[in-house]
Amino acid sequence: MQIQFHGAVRTVTGSQHLLTINGKRILLDCGLYQGSRKESYRRNQNLPFNASSIDKLILSHAHIDHSGNIPNLVKSGFKGDIICTYPTRDLCAIMLRDSAKIQSYDIQFLNKKRARNNLPPIMPLYDMQDAVESLKQFVGIGYNRPYQILPGVELTFYDAGHILGSAITALNIKDEETHQDIRLVFSGDLGRPDRPILNDPSPIDSADVLIIESTYGNREHAHLDEASDKLERIINETCKRGGKVIVPAFAVGRTQELVYRIHQLVEARDISPDLPIYVDSPLAIDATSIYRLHPEAYDEEVAQFLLDSHTGDPFGFYMMQYTRSTVQSKELNHLRQPAVIISASGMAEAGRILHHLKNNIEDPRNTILIVGWQAPHTLGRRIVDREPEVKIFGETYQLKAQVATINGFSAHADRSELLDWAGGLKTPPKHTYIVHGEEESSLAFAKALHTNLDFNNVAVPKLGESFTI
Ligand SMILES: [Zn+2]
Repeated sequence: MQIQFHGAVRTVTGSQHLLTINGKRILLDCGLYQGSRKESYRRNQNLPFNASSIDKLILSHAHIDHSGNIPNLVKSGFKGDIICTYPTRDLCAIMLRDSAKIQSYDIQFLNKKRARNNLPPIMPLYDMQDAVESLKQFVGIGYNRPYQILPGVELTFYDAGHILGSAITALNIKDEETHQDIRLVFSGDLGRPDRPILNDPSPIDSADVLIIESTYGNREHAHLDEASDKLERIINETCKRGGKVIVPAFAVGRTQELVYRIHQLVEARDISPDLPIYVDSPLAIDATSIYRLHPEAYDEEVAQFLLDSHTGDPFGFYMMQYTRSTVQSKELNHLRQPAVIISASGMAEAGRILHHLKNNIEDPRNTILIVGWQAPHTLGRRIVDREPEVKIFGETYQLKAQVATINGFSAHADRSELLDWAGGLKTPPKHTYIVHGEEESSLAFAKALHTNLDFNNVAVPKLGESFTI
């Protein structure tokens, strides 16, 4: 058996790991590499393998850095099944189409630059039609249901507790060349224990080969209860000032968690039940419908909450409003009373959140609440860094609103939680590969696995590196 790493090594995006087993090729994830526009286009366009030579694609979850290059893979000749959980398939139906829109927007930007340098225009990585075509190859399976995907290869998904539908992949392999049985486990992205809505990451007790993420391999998060208390305090203090809470949030996952947390606060009367809460993002609204469609993926806390709550819907309550049309979204500009507005994009780089920031950033009664990591050079990062002036749509605005950050809502396990999960293995794996982390984080986590859990043979692969088992 051979493993070759084609992305998300010594970085966090572009997850793609290629297995060659008994002459067949299985790709784990087909994510988009996300860097500068030009570099991303080059890396994503040129697949590092022949797409038609891949037999199966196993998809860990719907995030674009794991799924976003699927339409290009299919367009390039991949004919096999794309195997994932049902919620992942449904989330991909909205996210891959949204990604196609972003691709065409990015290409317009690149082509303007190329035209200035007398270069011919280039085509987008894929378009809407390609995204829709690729959905025809998806095959859904449930958690804990063993499934023979190829002769001698049995796949079981376990809940990874990261976003709706996220899976840990376990493959029981009969290697015909070496006559050995190999159990390979790919963590995908691992969530945190006790997060809202989702189950805790499933414990795994055996693996001969482990491929594990390391996003926070060298950092610890704040406790989740603190995050919820802080959310309550920020909302109440802002309301008292007569201001609005403006939250840039990722449309899939983070928005639903926030809405559910706020719903809990409303039910407990910790915040006013008359405070209007808006989710102003068509993508988030679509994603929320998919969350509603998959109650089988909820944890016990939500199940109990549903029994106790008045609404029977974790994502809907009296003052909760979802605004889909542009007209409704624009009406929020004229809102004068306290409110919470949650909108995308999560790093305030594009989307409707820009209008809300523009309209509210100069009023000191308002709070801009940051609930996720903000990449350098994004508007979100400039706000976190409290730069006194920021540019929105080319205009300069004074940052006079309050800025608050809550770090405890991370969808990724921190260092201790990753170690706890890996420590659930009864014996250390024979081979461990650290992926999906910045280099510093992956290297630190490799060391921690060795020191704390006695893992030997821990590698931090480089791009394109391959290993024979
Ligand atoms: Zn993810």
